[in-house]
Amino acid sequence: MMGSDKKSVLIIGGGLAGLTAAKRLTDKGFQVRVIEKRDIYGGKVSSWKDSEGDWIESGTHCFFGAYDVLYDLMKEIKTYHAVQWKDHKLTYTLAGGERFTFSTWDLPSPLHLLPAIVKNGYFTYGEMAAFSKSLIPLALQKNLYPPTQDHLTFVEWAEEKKFGKRLLEKMFRPMALALKFIPPEEISAKIILDVTETFYRVPDSSCMGFLKGAPQEYLHQPLIDHSASKGAEFRNRVAVDELLFDGREIKGVQLRNGEILTADYYLSALPIHNLVKVLPVSMKRKDLFFAGLQNLEGVPVISVQIWYDREIAPDDNVLFSPDGVIPVYANLARTTPEYRSLRGEPFSGKSRFEFCVAPARDLMGLSKEEIVRQVDMSVRNCYPETSQGASILKSTVVKIPSSVYAPVPNMERFRPTQRTPVKNFFIAGGFSQQLYYDSMGGAVMSANLASQEIMKAAGMEE
Ligand SMILES: Cc1cc2nc3c(=O)[nH]c(=O)nc-3n(C[C@H](O)[C@H](O)[C@H](O)COP(=O)(O)OP(=O)(O)OC[C@H]3O[C@@H](n4cnc5c(N)ncnc54)[C@H](O)[C@@H]3O)c2cc1C
Repeated sequence: MMGSDKKSVLIIGGGLAGLTAAKRLTDKGFQVRVIEKRDIYGGKVSSWKDSEGDWIESGTHCFFGAYDVLYDLMKEIKTYHAVQWKDHKLTYTLAGGERFTFSTWDLPSPLHLLPAIVKNGYFTYGEMAAFSKSLIPLALQKNLYPPTQDHLTFVEWAEEKKFGKRLLEKMFRPMALALKFIPPEEISAKIILDVTETFYRVPDSSCMGFLKGAPQEYLHQPLIDHSASKGAEFRNRVAVDELLFDGREIKGVQLRNGEILTADYYLSALPIHNLVKVLPVSMKRKDLFFAGLQNLEGVPVISVQIWYDREIAPDDNVLFSPDGVIPVYANLARTTPEYRSLRGEPFSGKSRFEFCVAPARDLMGLSKEEIVRQVDMSVRNCYPETSQGASILKSTVVKIPSSVYAPVPNMERFRPTQRTPVKNFFIAGGFSQQLYYDSMGGAVMSANLASQEIMKAAGMEE
């Protein structure tokens, strides 16, 4: 037991879900301790400075308009001002220098999408009409429709709807890869339909924002400072090895260094692949709830930054590309004011790109040089004119072997609720059941829900 009169919670994992839960529970008077394996907090949205003083990130993070719970949290820790909203449009860059843009108008839903349909300058009216027709069930049944399509991949769904290969290849391929790092042949149709339905119904949901600087400075450290000031304890470089389960409840957690920690309640805020590792066999045998978790897997993804000696893309917004290995990227020298630097020197009017490289399964084993070469080739393909003669000044590569859970068909039923069949054990994390899938919004919402469940268990229902 950690505190005397206060109920104690041990949170395993210091990503966004774990840090959010720490704040929620500390604010409610729990004695909270967070255990994090790495030396930095933030998990998949972590950022750190390299030896030359440049920020490196796990990956480009876009703030979707839909993530209300995240913005509520940022308002509480007084960092919402750091989210910089960009023009409400989605631009796709193609091989040969071609591009098209889905813009919106400031009109009530679904009229706000009219310019995207009639004025994108790339897809024909026939293609857009066939696509609009395929969305009739979505328009009629709204959010009740996507769950009925979870048995299909998006390609299978698109083949049934016959809206044409070009839309699938040029619009939906980068969208699937940007959202979950897996291609339309693998992703469940439910995911794309859910996102489309939200974009259709909620006008600002597809608007994108970027942080003005590092997530470490505007998310993780302020969250840690807030909770630490109220008595929460944070321990990094400490990995949990196994949950100690006596057949009825969790009795403690075994750390890799041999120590055992105990608390009144235990909250896993681990990624799915790590949660499965720390669950003892006896828990997996006890209940299908735990056994089913083994069906969920993390997707590999690679994050690359390249500094070029000139401005290749002037866009101050997120960019998508169906051609090459860079489905989603941004010129941070435009989008992120505090990243206009290279080795401590000001760096503007040039390009500091951050790319999400996916699908990454076949690239994980390649050298840094080869990955950068493939990304550079994709850039030169999309920008044949502005990239001519451009030199790379610096590049960085971050490989993540298991990132977000892979939402392939029929996985929904294995996503756990925050409350589990073991009464003192709870689960948070982007992969757990909540509105936003595995995302920053999802991590925060899962932590909110898990904290509410812990409060209920402690008899503190609001
Ligand atoms: C490249 C990339 C780009 C992304 N882009 C976006 C985006 O644009 N928008 C968006 O909303 N989301 C995006 N995401 C997804 C988003 O980052 C995640 O959904 C979210 O951060 C998940 O948070 P989490 O707290 O659930 O898990 P995690 O961030 O994975 O946190 C889990 C923590 O547990 C720790 N841990 C693991 N094992 C142990 C152990 N045994 N003991 C103790 N600690 C342990 C880990 O080190 C980690 O800190 C992106 C992700 C990646 C990888």
